[in-house]
Amino acid sequence: MAKLDAETRNLIDGKLVPASNGGEFENINPATEEVIGVSADGTKEDMESAIAAARRAFDETDWSTDHALRKRCLEQLNQALVEAREDLRQIVIAEAGSPILITYQVQVDNYIDAMPYWSNLTTSYEYETPMSDIEFMGSPQGRIMRREAVGVVGAITPWNFPLYLNLAKIGPALAAGNTVVLKPAPDTPWSATHLGRLVAEKTDIPPGVLNIVASSDHELGAMLSRDPRVDLVTFTGSTATGRAVMEAAAATVKKTFLELGGKSATIILDDIDLDLAAPMSGIAVCTHAGQGCAIQTRTLLPRARYEEGVEKIAAIMSGVAYGDPLEPGNLMGPVVSRKQQERVLSYIEKGKQDGARVVVGGGTPSHLEKGYFIEPTLLADVDPDSVVAQEEIFGPVLCVIPYEDEEDAIRIANNSIYGLSGSIWSGDIDRALSVARKIRTGTLSVNGAQWFDVDTPFGGYRQSGVGRENGVAGFEEYLETKIVAVPR
Ligand code: NAD
Repeated sequence: MAKLDAETRNLIDGKLVPASNGGEFENINPATEEVIGVSADGTKEDMESAIAAARRAFDETDWSTDHALRKRCLEQLNQALVEAREDLRQIVIAEAGSPILITYQVQVDNYIDAMPYWSNLTTSYEYETPMSDIEFMGSPQGRIMRREAVGVVGAITPWNFPLYLNLAKIGPALAAGNTVVLKPAPDTPWSATHLGRLVAEKTDIPPGVLNIVASSDHELGAMLSRDPRVDLVTFTGSTATGRAVMEAAAATVKKTFLELGGKSATIILDDIDLDLAAPMSGIAVCTHAGQGCAIQTRTLLPRARYEEGVEKIAAIMSGVAYGDPLEPGNLMGPVVSRKQQERVLSYIEKGKQDGARVVVGGGTPSHLEKGYFIEPTLLADVDPDSVVAQEEIFGPVLCVIPYEDEEDAIRIANNSIYGLSGSIWSGDIDRALSVARKIRTGTLSVNGAQWFDVDTPFGGYRQSGVGRENGVAGFEEYLETKIVAVPR
């Protein structure tokens, strides 16, 4: 791979800057284990400066009230993203190990192309709407509802879809008139810092409106959750860290918007052609090596057709193409780090100890000498209460579970602390829809239909999160509501 010209400095108060102490940390390509470069290792002082700059920009400039300025700036950002598209693609592939195949969809292109959705909302959204009059002590009262920016937004993102998630937070937060401090995951700093270069060099976004602080220190995320100058924290990551963010934010009663983990189920009903349904559940779990919160990682098969279903899923998982993320035919690359590789392998071991049968994979591939790869792994006969059926593995590991009847399938699907996504396969769409109404998750797909788009509110029930990302509902997460009463 050619050397990437990625930005390595942080963006603080309008300037691209090294860390305050000059520190840097290594960026590692998970497919080759090679150091591809460094990133400024943001310090606590840097985070202090970034929060102060964002506060000042919100309080002392007209960013939050000048809709035309915001529209122009976000259109410039959109144009800059379009021009930098291929650089960004290579960055995401190199630091996240993402297969190039999915960069043409959600990982890179979908969200660059989605930016006009946010820039348009700067002016098309109704920020002020009259309400119907009410009567108070005999006289009519008018009311106006205003929607205003919340203030300073702390945005904390993970490594699995780094560019998409950075843009999914920056886009609506800035469009709504907030100022932002973005702290990306340490494994994927450039998907954020490179955006800083585009903002500094290609847009009129005023200093302090967007700050980007990459760091190897997770504590900088915790600083955002605690700081009284930050009004809202938008976080995507694990449920464990989400709880920590919520707890830290409680001290200043900060609004929190959390997109967390998932353990979504595919329910294959007994009236569907298994040749249609089974392969999809095997392929889905291998996409980006299973590192997607909404990926279905449990497949529920009717007891009567269980062995047949397991065989069909095994056949497809055994043939999944994986390896070099730059190879266009590969559906999966590595997991993001040695730490994640060890974590996924330890889950497979735990599954075996708890009685699961390894039908496909189960370890690291022998044909790939370098890289944090995991074999596509099919675990059958999984106890729905066991650790592998309950905890998020975040690797290409599918748990197959038999069920007795429809009610049993719904019960097993809902037997989770999570509630993010899922899918249902049936020969009868009405039957599938009636099952969908009983599943407690934020998104569902029937017979492989796709729900994802920038205007689809996405998020979870239960411990999969609080709030919705994308769509008008997602935009409104970044707005306060003010009611002004006026005499009639
Ligand atoms: P993580 O929770 O370890 O880290 C996410 C981010 O939080 C990183 O930037 C990290 O530096 C920061 N962080 C760590 N400790 C913190 C603290 N105490 N306070 C504030 N910030 C802190 O998650 P990860 O391992 O990077 O990502 C994988 C997880 O993200 C998976 O569980 C996955 O399901 C979840 N995820 C959810 C969604 C969604 O939309 N629901 C999308 C993608 C990923």
